[in-house]
Amino acid sequence: MARQILVTSALPYANGAIHLGHLVEYVQTDIWVRFQKMRGHACWYVCADDTHGTPVMLRAEKEGVTPEALIERVMGEHVRDFAGFLIGFDNYYSTHAPETREFANLFYARLQAAGLIERRVIQQYYDPVKNMFLPDRFIKGECPKCGAPDQYGDNCESCGAAYAPTELENPYSAISGATPELRDSEHYFFRLSDPRCEAFLRRYTSRENGVLQAEAANKMREWLGAEGAHLLTDWDISRDAPYFGFEIPDAPGKFFYVWLDAPIGYMGAFKNLCARENLDFDAYFEPGSKTELYHFIGKDILYFHALFWPAELAHVGFRTPTKIFAHGFLTVDGTKMSKTRGTFITAESYLAQGLDPEWLRYYFAGKLSASMEDIDLNLKDFVARVNADLIGKYVNIASRSAGFILKRFDGRLAAADAALPAIRAIQEAAPRIAACYEEREFSRAMREIMALADGANQYVDNVKPWELAKDPARETELHVACSNSLNLFRLLTVFLKPVLPALADKVETFLNVAPLAWESIATLLPAGHSIRPYRHLMTRIDPKQIAALVEANKANLTAAPDVAQPVAAKTGEAGNTVIGIDDFLNVDLRVARIIAAHHVEGAEKLVRLLLDVGAENPRQVFAGIKSAYDPTALEGRLTVMVANLAPRKMRFGVSEGMVLAASGPDDATGGIYLLSPDAGATPGMRVK
Ligand SMILES: [Zn+2]
Repeated sequence: MARQILVTSALPYANGAIHLGHLVEYVQTDIWVRFQKMRGHACWYVCADDTHGTPVMLRAEKEGVTPEALIERVMGEHVRDFAGFLIGFDNYYSTHAPETREFANLFYARLQAAGLIERRVIQQYYDPVKNMFLPDRFIKGECPKCGAPDQYGDNCESCGAAYAPTELENPYSAISGATPELRDSEHYFFRLSDPRCEAFLRRYTSRENGVLQAEAANKMREWLGAEGAHLLTDWDISRDAPYFGFEIPDAPGKFFYVWLDAPIGYMGAFKNLCARENLDFDAYFEPGSKTELYHFIGKDILYFHALFWPAELAHVGFRTPTKIFAHGFLTVDGTKMSKTRGTFITAESYLAQGLDPEWLRYYFAGKLSASMEDIDLNLKDFVARVNADLIGKYVNIASRSAGFILKRFDGRLAAADAALPAIRAIQEAAPRIAACYEEREFSRAMREIMALADGANQYVDNVKPWELAKDPARETELHVACSNSLNLFRLLTVFLKPVLPALADKVETFLNVAPLAWESIATLLPAGHSIRPYRHLMTRIDPKQIAALVEANKANLTAAPDVAQPVAAKTGEAGNTVIGIDDFLNVDLRVARIIAAHHVEGAEKLVRLLLDVGAENPRQVFAGIKSAYDPTALEGRLTVMVANLAPRKMRFGVSEGMVLAASGPDDATGGIYLLSPDAGATPGMRVK
């Protein structure tokens, strides 16, 4: 019987680019959904951009645009990247939408009626310059445990200590730099500590109930503690204005915390789809619904999805998720993705390098299981595995047989041998492989499929079509051998279709067949069936492409201006962009003494400077100041340099920083004026 299934992936935040780490989840979910659809089930896949909260508000302000304009632009980028990786959402929506607002209000009203909302005055840091309460991540100061400077309000990156923002020494606002004040504010709490929530969660998240993976259920038991331990604390669901989000209906100036409306966004996205597809929303969300609801998430947001979310749903009067599937994180070459190593790879850069998205989909499938373990993208193994499996084993079967059918038999197949062991083996494996897909054991499925591909290749190696082709008397044998091969290829394509949808589409065109469903595995192509001309299905990965990808993601970070010009504020634009104190502090400005200055042979504008910045070795900087200064007049004077600029290789040598100078809008009206510190400053002093 056809199942009715609703599937979600976690909502990406509308503040950054999709990278390969994100894609693990979308590829995992998409493969599962495509499998269900191939099985003939009604399976709907929805997702949305998560749009609310302080980071979006501040970034929009920084860019000088409205939050609405920012989230619209970012959503366009996300949709483009997901389409590029063939993620087949049935609806990709936004949490900043009327459906989601309506549900958020409904949740709030019903939880309030159930006595599960409580108002409480709390003390929180307030930025008196920016006039706003500060989220923990926007307060910085010295770690109360180890004294490390510039640590966030929730934990120390130096010693790992966790603490409350009020415990920081010498706190300051990361937005304005001002010293924050403690102020009172009334907040709204969802009473997770209520005995009703606790009793429900003990039952719902238990191992026996089977909603969670065993490892996740164990984690829940840790969070819930022993019966009567009362470890659950209430959840602060409100934030004060200014905030980009939904205002709480009966509380002007108070907004729902972004994490309240994010999972509600799943319902908003589905409601929107229901209107379009004429589906019965209630049938999917009423208590006791016979439909199935699955959330794919990363293990880092288990707390929100396995505690808050089902507890809310249960007490608002909706069904709860059938299962919650958590996955691990992505590492690249065995370690955390790193911007300096070039392994923090964005979806956009992968596609821009001309890499095939299905290579990555297949590689991820080969690594994914039902567990919460991290998965590793080993770049060498990636090249080897894709080339060996997809090209060497799978595509090879078709490319070795198609030519003979097209040239010798007018593109028509002979009847395949239904009793052929390689064909029987594939058909008999179908229930096992289906079970692997259903249980999200994709790596096991890929291993089985490649073992069957080995069997198919062995058949081709044994019958040797290229030798049969030399003997006119064996024409019929050749015809059957190649027809068997193409049938084997078709059957393997059925198994791989959830992972390689675009390739399967090309195969369907080449084989001249209707879109393959899972049940296609039971049938063979009939005698006389005609195929279309064979076109290249997939190319091998050239390791050079991977090297270029890594290089491109490094370059993103260390992009330097084309010419080593002195840094100068462009007069007309001064003051257009507001930056936070953090942006400014990221620039390491130092007092520098010019030890030596020389003309540069062959460079019209440049002077080569040797700078003493109080370190052992002097720095070499090429500065475009020749039009204004005679090098010898510069020697001995003090100036200011950017000391942490990425070194830049120029035709004349490496430039290891920049010196600061003022200038007008152009050379004719402006000139160049090198900066100097007041008397008393010495080389190496920090400028801030
Ligand atoms: Zn510390």
